[in-house]
Amino acid sequence: MAIQPIDKFCENLNPRVKAAVHAASVGSTNARAQILKKAYPADSGEKLRALANAIRSSGWTENLETAYESLERNGVKVLFAKDAAEARSMIYEIAAKRSAKNVVKVKSMTTEEIELNSFLISKGIDVVETDLGELIIQLDGDKPSHIVKPAIHRRRDDIAKSFEKFGIAAYDDNPEHITLNARKYLRKKYFNADIVVSGANYILAREGTVVLATNEGNARFSMAGAKTHIAIAGFEKTIPSARELAVFLNLLARSATGQNYTVYTDFVSGPGTAKNSPEEMFVIFLDNGRSRILGSEFADILKCMRCGACMNRCPVFRLVSGHAYRTVYPGPLGIVLSPLLAGGDIDKLADLPKACTLCGACADVCPAKIPLPDLVLKLRDTLKRNGAKVPNDINFLPWSLLASSPKIWRLVIPLNKIANFLPLKFARFGTLGRWIKSRTLPKLRGGEFRKWLKKNGR
Ligand code: SF4
Repeated sequence: MAIQPIDKFCENLNPRVKAAVHAASVGSTNARAQILKKAYPADSGEKLRALANAIRSSGWTENLETAYESLERNGVKVLFAKDAAEARSMIYEIAAKRSAKNVVKVKSMTTEEIELNSFLISKGIDVVETDLGELIIQLDGDKPSHIVKPAIHRRRDDIAKSFEKFGIAAYDDNPEHITLNARKYLRKKYFNADIVVSGANYILAREGTVVLATNEGNARFSMAGAKTHIAIAGFEKTIPSARELAVFLNLLARSATGQNYTVYTDFVSGPGTAKNSPEEMFVIFLDNGRSRILGSEFADILKCMRCGACMNRCPVFRLVSGHAYRTVYPGPLGIVLSPLLAGGDIDKLADLPKACTLCGACADVCPAKIPLPDLVLKLRDTLKRNGAKVPNDINFLPWSLLASSPKIWRLVIPLNKIANFLPLKFARFGTLGRWIKSRTLPKLRGGEFRKWLKKNGR
């Protein structure tokens, strides 16, 4: 019997990776809780979360229009890409016109979404990730396993081996030395860079400013060397002004890594505004399915600030790791966003919304107060109505027939006592075997509770 792809991935997951992901996720969740409690003793940031949600509840189009005008006024060339292919072509065209050969990248999930690196490399352009986590996975041709901590699944000895293999430094797994070695390696790359490509944590509409939050200062190093800056972001990253930014910056790092703030916050308000900054700047607003989501019942997911708190807290993510989700966005965010972004290919990801226990922990920690479990349920419903097939659905067919007909349910429930006499604990194979392996069934009572409720309920 078929099992879900995500379960299959988990079965074969290296125990070392599992342990690393679990430990890092639990650590981040605990750090988040502590810092929010310390910063907002009365309500652990509840009011701020509500405010963040309210700010993102309206004004999408106005913000985008204002941002367009302000950015252009600041000397930024603004482009709109309808999908990943168009965004990639735009970036390549800019690079080709300038005969650029070296690109440095500031960490950006949007560039992962459009698979920019492999595209530029196939065109003969050298692309280097300047965020340490991203650099680590780039060296081994790996993919990020987490949106904030891309190398969450890697251990320091693995990293030291990679550094040795790619000639960055001799084997040394001291974390401080790993960082210093990466720094030395990247310095040369900054000097040689023609173009810097970044994402945007936020775009301030009124000011026409791109905000970049990093912990390593790599954004400003990248800007110092390159002549051209290209920032690419989903249009949902636009917020009204610097005033609202305060709300988001107070939540972002606390939710993501348990820091009060990210170490560096760069405000880029057009080309040449800082000493040694790029002489020209582009902002590409990416749609890639977002406007379809904005006009649907799933619009709340666009409020995401990419903090990763939901995946850190998710019991499924902690067990399976980010790669199990087969897409750029893992965890509770990914099981909603990835199928929605897939558009016509949504059926290929129809199993993802099933990778959820509906425990609600993600919604409790989400700084944007996105009702993730509600969106998961809605998406399951949408996929079901569309007739999407998910492995294992067939095994639940008898249950679904029973549970969706009150008449049959009433008839059958007194018979459930029979299950108490079946040797279920000896089941070893198939869906039942897997189910029983990690669960103890309660004693079935043939509808006693219903009888009690009928007699005593009001
Ligand atoms: S859905 Fe919420 S918790 Fe998850 S990454 Fe986005 S903002 Fe963070």
